[in-house]
This record gives sequence, structure tokens and C-alpha cells, in this order.
Amino acid sequence: MHDSQVFDLIRAETQRQHDTLRMIASENYVSRAVLEATGSVLTNKYSEGYPGKRYYEGQRFIDPIEELAIERAKSLFGVEHANVQPYSGSPANLAVYLALAKPGDTVMGMALPMGGHLTHGWPVSATGAWFKPVQYTVRRDTGRVDFDEVRDLALRSRPRLIFAGGTAIPRTIDFPRFAEIAREVDAVLVADIAHIAGLIAGGAHPSPVGHAGIISTTTHKTLRGPRGAMLMCDAEHAKAIDKAVFPGLQGGPHNHTTAAIAVALGEAALPSFRVYAEQVVANARALATALIERGFDLVSGGTDNHLILLDLTGKGIGGKPVAKALDRAGIETNYNTVPYDTRKPFDPSGVRLGTPALTTRGLTEAQMPQVANWISRAVDAALKSDDEALDTIAGEVRDLLSAYPI
Ligand SMILES: *Cc1c(COP(=O)(O)O)cnc(C)c1O
Repeated sequence: MHDSQVFDLIRAETQRQHDTLRMIASENYVSRAVLEATGSVLTNKYSEGYPGKRYYEGQRFIDPIEELAIERAKSLFGVEHANVQPYSGSPANLAVYLALAKPGDTVMGMALPMGGHLTHGWPVSATGAWFKPVQYTVRRDTGRVDFDEVRDLALRSRPRLIFAGGTAIPRTIDFPRFAEIAREVDAVLVADIAHIAGLIAGGAHPSPVGHAGIISTTTHKTLRGPRGAMLMCDAEHAKAIDKAVFPGLQGGPHNHTTAAIAVALGEAALPSFRVYAEQVVANARALATALIERGFDLVSGGTDNHLILLDLTGKGIGGKPVAKALDRAGIETNYNTVPYDTRKPFDPSGVRLGTPALTTRGLTEAQMPQVANWISRAVDAALKSDDEALDTIAGEVRDLLSAYPI
């Protein structure tokens, strides 16, 4: 049977991804090899358990695939143990709680509006409902983590887990500082590197290895793999983590995803991936400079990584109308809270920008002033509700991108 309804929609989405400047910081383009592994017959197979210890027969080829993914993860990140089965970043984090904490335990993470993730104890998340969350912030004046506050909160609340990482942090995460505090209060440090895993693999961000007891990551952001996740740790926590993922939280692993993770990890170990990771950061820096020159305020005043958080307060417009205007102009972003936002979460003051996807497309620092120009023109057009100007930009974006095949 041919399902032309779904086929046509996928084809249209393919075209959309070709024609738009994709600047959502958590998104990327995967290679054809990753795509093909994801779309393979491995999706037909059940394999609850771990290599060599399965509850179903017929694992002759599945076991070596999972072993390959595990070995590649261990060698790429330099860790003692890797579990490649978590379905995605959120369930991976839930497995960490299940492995190391009891309901009602105190857990610490960065508050969501400050750049943290829901699963670091935010109240609407299961992690905030079932555990006692303590949330740290960033400093008002610098937009950066205040380690005096983190230490004070940790000493007072004695958390079981401390999460370092988030979804809207434009600056280098100081894992050694977090580790020092975790040691002082006998907490386990969980480095959630979902956003920056590819930068770490490519040597463009310091690694948490040797500092964090547990490392949690998605595989589909800067790491440029399929939608999935991994948990990495030292030998001490290996058993607890494996038990928490299966049978604690999940059933059969998604073998097509496991294979695609193995492919992505193989790609990330190539010298060309180091070049990619460095280019992602170079592009973000160049874009930040060009935006500042055009009068934009950036949270923390710039970026060290793949991500920029625009604070539009000074422009007299909210993040949502700007994100909508940018979308019409062929530039895909998301509206985002900024630290100490005075507007509501569903209509906040910020827009988050990322360079991972456009760097995969082949864009370099040379195009970043042009990108900043488009963003600036789109904000002006949004202020004047000038849809025609937005459509003009979308045409220019399409023209530029036609020279950069996926
Ligand atoms: C994206 C992200 C997650 C969650 O990943 P999903 O795959 O969307 O569940 C967890 N933590 C951080 C820091 C993230 O950026």
C-alpha cells in the first residue's frame, strides 16, 4: 500500500527543511547513513534486556549492533560505562532519579526560566512532583550561574542529585565547580549535556568526565544522531543505571535508533566532526557579534557555545511575535523566557537561536552578518506588521540556501 497522504506531508517537510534557515538550537540535520539506519528493519525486532542477556530469541545481529554503539560511546566520551537504550532525554533523566533517589528526596537543578530543563525538578514535571526540588538561578547582572548561591542552596538543602546543564545556557558549564559543591554535600552530580554533547565530542566544550558521577545526553541535538539518549557513568553506578533503564522504566529498546546512534557516534569520532563542532561555535560567536552591532541585547552578553538568547525587551516587542515573524521570513526559531522575565511564559521576552543545523548545511562566519541582518529586518517588520517585508526576506533566505544542499 502507498500512503500518499503521509508521503506528501513528509515530502513537503523535506522541502521546508531545505528552504528555511533552521535555527532552533536543539535541532540539526542527520546524515543519510543515520537516516537509513533509523528507517531500517531493526524497527521490527524486540530485544528486552542487554547484549548477551535477552528475553527474546533472534538477537544474533542486534547484540553486536548495541555493543558497537556502547563501545563507540565509551571511546568517544572516555567513559567506563554507557547505556544507549533510553528512548529520549526525558526518560533518560527519569532513569537517573530511579537509579539514585527515592521519591521525596531533595534534588537540585537550574530553574526552567533561567535555562534549565523541565526534568531537573520543575514543578509541572514528574521530577518536580515526586521529588523535592531546589532550583538555582543565574545572576541578574551577568546572566551566569552564581556558584555562591548554588553552594548555599546545596549546603542548606543537602540534595541527593545536582543537575548541571540546561536548554538555554549560552555559556560554558563549569563542571569542576559543580563537582566541588556536589562532593561537599555528598550529592551525585548529573551532567545533562543534551545540548552540548556534540561540542564535547568535538572538543569545543570541556567534558564533564571525571567530574560528574552520571552523564545524561540526548543523541539528536549537536551530536547529530537520531532522536534518542544515552546515560554514561563510572563503573560504580553502572548496575544501578542499567537496572533503572530496563526493567525499571522501559521495555524493548528501539533497535533502529540504537543502530543509528552507533552510526552517529562513528561520524562524531571523525576528524571532520571536530571541524564541525568548532565551526558551530565560531558561527555562534560571529552571529552574536553581528547582532550586538545591530543593537540587540544578548543574555550574558554573548555566547561560548552553539546558542544565543536574545532579550527583546529593549526592542519593545515580545519573543512570540518575533518568532512568528522570523518563521514567516524563513528563519525557524523558538520564543523563550529570559532570566527574570517580566512577561508570561507563553509570551516571554526572548528568542533562542542556535547554529548547529545551519553549520551542518555548510554556512560559516562569512554568512553570519547576513543572517543578523535578516533577523534585524524581521524584527523591524514585526514592529510594523509588514508581512511583505517578511516574505521578501524568506525569498532571500531560500536563494542563499539553494547553494547549500542538505
Ligand atoms: C532536550 C533536553 C532534554 C530532553 O530531551 P527529550 O529528548 O526532548 O526528552 C533533557 N535535558 C536537556 C538539558 C535538554 O536540552
